[in-house]
Amino acid sequence: MSTTPPENPKPAQNPANTGQGANPAAVPRPAGPTPVSAPATTAPKPAGAAPAPGAPRPAGAAPAPGAPKPAGAAPAPVPGAPRPAGAAPVPGAPRPAGATPVPGAPRPAGAAPVPGAPRPAGAAPVPVAPRPAGPTPVSGPVPGAPKPAAPAPKPAAPIAVKKPVEAKPKPTGGRPKIGEILVGLGLIDEQQLFEMLDEARSSGKKLGTVAVSRGLVNEDQLVKALAEQCNIKIGNLNEQKSQPEALLLVSETMASMYKVIPLTFKDKILSVAIVDPNNLTSVDDLRNLLGLNEVIPYLVTPTAFEEAQKKSFAGKEDSIADLIQELEADGTKGRRKNETSIDLESLMEQADSAPVRRLINMVFLMAIRDQASDIHFEPFEEDYKMRYKCDGVLFELPPPPKYLANAIASRIKVMANLDIAERRLPQDGRIELTIGGNRVDMRVSTLPTLFGESAVIRLLDKSVVALDINKLGIDATVLATFRELINKPNGVVLVTGPTGSGKTTTLYSALNELNVIEEKIITTEDPVEYEIEGLVQCPINHEVGMTFAAALRSILRQDPDKILVGEIRDLETAQIAVQAALTGHIVFSTLHTNDAPSTITRMRDMGLQSYLINACVEGVLAQRLVRKICINCREEFQPGPDQLLELNLTPEMVAGKKFFYGKGCDTCNNTGYKGRMGIHELLVMTDELRDLISKEASTDELRDLCVKSGMKTLRWSGVNAIHQGLTTMEEIIRETVTEE
Ligand SMILES: [Zn+2]
Repeated sequence: MSTTPPENPKPAQNPANTGQGANPAAVPRPAGPTPVSAPATTAPKPAGAAPAPGAPRPAGAAPAPGAPKPAGAAPAPVPGAPRPAGAAPVPGAPRPAGATPVPGAPRPAGAAPVPGAPRPAGAAPVPVAPRPAGPTPVSGPVPGAPKPAAPAPKPAAPIAVKKPVEAKPKPTGGRPKIGEILVGLGLIDEQQLFEMLDEARSSGKKLGTVAVSRGLVNEDQLVKALAEQCNIKIGNLNEQKSQPEALLLVSETMASMYKVIPLTFKDKILSVAIVDPNNLTSVDDLRNLLGLNEVIPYLVTPTAFEEAQKKSFAGKEDSIADLIQELEADGTKGRRKNETSIDLESLMEQADSAPVRRLINMVFLMAIRDQASDIHFEPFEEDYKMRYKCDGVLFELPPPPKYLANAIASRIKVMANLDIAERRLPQDGRIELTIGGNRVDMRVSTLPTLFGESAVIRLLDKSVVALDINKLGIDATVLATFRELINKPNGVVLVTGPTGSGKTTTLYSALNELNVIEEKIITTEDPVEYEIEGLVQCPINHEVGMTFAAALRSILRQDPDKILVGEIRDLETAQIAVQAALTGHIVFSTLHTNDAPSTITRMRDMGLQSYLINACVEGVLAQRLVRKICINCREEFQPGPDQLLELNLTPEMVAGKKFFYGKGCDTCNNTGYKGRMGIHELLVMTDELRDLISKEASTDELRDLCVKSGMKTLRWSGVNAIHQGLTTMEEIIRETVTEE
């Protein structure tokens, strides 16, 4: 499913950005990432229609169901609010600190969690949530956790659902409570304190916020109390102005992600302004990222912070382009005379140079903030490309000078602990970044190419990825049936689709729901993509012969109840999976097939006998990921008969139904799309179907029977999503082209 035909021209720049009157920059700056492949669309996009930034939402364009933000995630980007990083800037529009999507918000639209989702009847009562980074859980009820309907059958210690790290204040330890300090300062009396505590508890607000909103203390007094409580210095942003060296070190992207304002920078010591005293972990993360000796925080009021933020970064938004310009300017001294004779020392020196470090840091942060899945660093003969992939589409960043190719590759290798002297062989490594307490795991792969080393980084955010089967976008009736299947005591349940269709997310969401203390779940994966507490997870390692088949064989000796095999690739794995199912286990796995019925024939082609398929396969869920229409620029339109025909629809069939497309706006980088969702088709094994399978029926015969007995096809699921205004006809045509 290649989404980037390289010959596709870049879409024209947003006309709204061409006259950047308010922008003082003399040099035309490249706008942020440009979508490399224009979405192939037959929808009637009015030519040249400038998307209105911040256009009001069309009436009725409520946020798509299935895409709510998880609890604890940062505020969703508001339509009309400043665009995400990398998008071309709205002149003069500053970005409020709070509006930045936080790394780790779930990527696929379908993967968002539902707090307090009901448990299926019959499911065991002890829910175990995916593990957010952070402290070990304490037993006990957690707000927002689904409550078991009945008391636990055993007095086993309940496993607590952990709260997302986000909103959780760090324990204050032995520090005095803020309320006590306010009383001690004579700002409030005890009666007021009790009332405030009450409000804070019921509203979930911080005590200080309550005090300010009640007019009992002002922001300055609160800062004084908080500073005393946390032993932080108080800042005065009227006197402490951001120094150029500090602004150079901490870009706006970095500052907004870490929620700091850089003030001074000297002798590897940086001082920053912060608002939230609980933000000290971020200060620490920043010190690590920048490799500094110390970062000194100064506590300031929210109002002062916002004002200073606007001033400090006014006109500095497109910092990646500026940085590259700067690199180009001093390119003459940095350029190597002979690329092939680079010695280790100069390579090390280049990799460690401040501009290169800053460039890489900035690219990483922008990619994380935009919830990219991969970052590509690619040397070509004439130039060097940096791109990252969001929602399956690559976006290009302003290209750095070509002579930096070695320095960039080396810098990434240093960060990933790879051998920078080895430039002739591919290497794999990882980088871990912590941003505001969230861990981001980066898998680095380098590959020697004709024109230098290419590096591709896969971003795995393990902390907040929420795996909730209710949020995958599966149709309610289909979901109910799928739930029955995964709750069976034994058998094989398969999820199929091409690479990148979200199979793993679906299976993990299923396992997450089944994850109870009374049952043992073992998984074997290549690689382990999500870490879930309570699961025993084995990575595949081909080099030492730890294949799926080998792992599965050993897993069976570990007394599992439920097993996940990352993928069934060969007969051997299929046979062991079947054997496991026949001996009383429920086995989940994935296969690369286009639809549910062809999965049966695919297993047969692998060499698995029909009677074994009949004996153990309980169901097959085929799925695809399609892009969701950007709700900020969604418009209704009436497709012509030709367009309908592409989906085998007639005007009569769609009478009264609605169709939508995204016009393109700042929020969605003018693609008309934002986020992705799944479409599904579920095959459930029946006696009739088994009969047909034992007769070695063809895929077509199997599909006919399935449809006749009520299977909702991928195409059906897609058309359904179109009418709900979630996706476009183009997306469904492309993803369900093999059908019919
Ligand atoms: Zn849009």
